[in-house]
Amino acid sequence: MRKLNIRLGGGYDVLIGGGILSMCGEKARELLPRAEKAVLVCGNTVSGLYADAVGKYLRDAGFEVYRFVYTGGEVSKNAATYISLLEFMAESRLCRDDLVIALGGGVTGDIAGFAAAGYMRGVALINIPTTLLSMVDSSVGGKCGIDLSAGKNLAGAFHQPRLVICDTETLNTLPAAVMCDGYAEVAKYAMLCKPELLSLGSGDIEEIIYLSLLAKRDYIEGDERDMGKRAFLNLGHTVAHAIERLSDYKVSHGKAVAMGLAVVSGHEPTLCSYLTAHGLPTEMHYDVDELCKLMINDKKRSGDRITLVVCSSVGRCELRTVNVSELKEFLFGGAK
Ligand code: NAD
Ligand code: MG
Repeated sequence: MRKLNIRLGGGYDVLIGGGILSMCGEKARELLPRAEKAVLVCGNTVSGLYADAVGKYLRDAGFEVYRFVYTGGEVSKNAATYISLLEFMAESRLCRDDLVIALGGGVTGDIAGFAAAGYMRGVALINIPTTLLSMVDSSVGGKCGIDLSAGKNLAGAFHQPRLVICDTETLNTLPAAVMCDGYAEVAKYAMLCKPELLSLGSGDIEEIIYLSLLAKRDYIEGDERDMGKRAFLNLGHTVAHAIERLSDYKVSHGKAVAMGLAVVSGHEPTLCSYLTAHGLPTEMHYDVDELCKLMINDKKRSGDRITLVVCSSVGRCELRTVNVSELKEFLFGGAK
């Protein structure tokens, strides 16, 4: 088992290993000696796979367990699910000393985290991510939230978990395409600062998650609220978000990130062969003017300048701010 500590919030451990789901009860009890209840949040697929086991481990540690199951998927990451989860917590008479557990992928983590942040102005949260993306990315750092009609992730909060448990065995049931999406974020960390990730294979999954989180930790510690260094984690993402919107979200986030990474690194060959080996695309066939228009109109951007992360070689990246009128030439004119 691997372990790393994140110095955000009250500070918390991330545990990574095969078969460590069974530790969740005792670990939760250690952290929250006075808690009586645990609300276990999961999508319907993960509920059928892992929630019985997790529920048992929690009960063995003396928790009363209340399971909230929603229809899995991004379509459920909305205000209706968020409110029904808060109502469920209140009906379960969850108290300030009690616990919320997010068991699932990034969608579950985002909804459950936001509800834990909002319920009684904040209750403890433990993340048990079950997708590669949520293990290497969304379960650590404290960002959580829901989508609004006007756009993705527009309502949210920062709420750090008290513990993160990554049981690599849960990845055995993950559909291949969802696993591939996670590898796009792994490639992002490789390009940012961990080139050795590109030479690790699926047999090294524990090491892949550990190194990815070491990379993420460097960018989030000291920038909890995303005002500075955390911007590097957007590598490939400005282009990716435009691709996702242009495709009306038919292209998955991971595939869009893969194409974005290829663009901002000038199609770096080691990166491209890694992406291809993981079933991810490196070429995109979208109208460049349309893409730039979407990047410029991004709801979260302001002013007439746009900051992008660009990559000069594997493991070397920098922030570059360009005027929106120069964006197309900068990204697609081969003038990096
Ligand atoms: P997801 O949560 O939708 O999970 C993908 C699919 O895999 C779902 O259908 C789920 O039911 C299924 N699944 C999950 N674990 C499984 C398992 N072990 N076995 C079988 N099936 C399983 O997708 P995701 O890629 O994990 O997360 C994407 C979400 O994460 C997006 O909403 C994104 O905005 C968010 N996100 C948040 C952050 C953050 O910092 N908060 C960072 C990155 C992404
Ligand atoms: Mg991402």
